[in-house]
Amino acid sequence: MTVDDFYKFLGLHEYEIRDLYIEWLESGFERALAPTVDRIDPNGHYEIGNIQIISSRDNSKKVWADNHGVAYGRGYKNCARCKKLRPLTDFNKNKYRNGGLEPYCRTHMNEIKREIRKNNKEKKV
Ligand SMILES: [Zn+2]
Repeated sequence: MTVDDFYKFLGLHEYEIRDLYIEWLESGFERALAPTVDRIDPNGHYEIGNIQIISSRDNSKKVWADNHGVAYGRGYKNCARCKKLRPLTDFNKNKYRNGGLEPYCRTHMNEIKREIRKNNKEKKV
């Protein structure tokens, strides 16, 4: 089985784990950043539609949340820019958006705002 087949088997797309993998690689294979297979619904099975790849650190957080009765699955969201799974607290609120939150994590929201500001300035000049 090739890596691509494996992703297909898992029902995942390469881009979903590429960033995680690159981050892991750049960290010198730090254990906390190792990609792990996780069940989205912990009561469900390891099957297509109920698995995702998250870092070992996020996986630990999720286990912690499960043990403390916090709904982790609903407490996380993928940033539309970096595609990373981040806690909802990393997203600014926006009542006009789906789910009441901005699609980008705070870091990337700021980055995007900066880009827009820069573009507007260049237009005015
Ligand atoms: Zn982001």
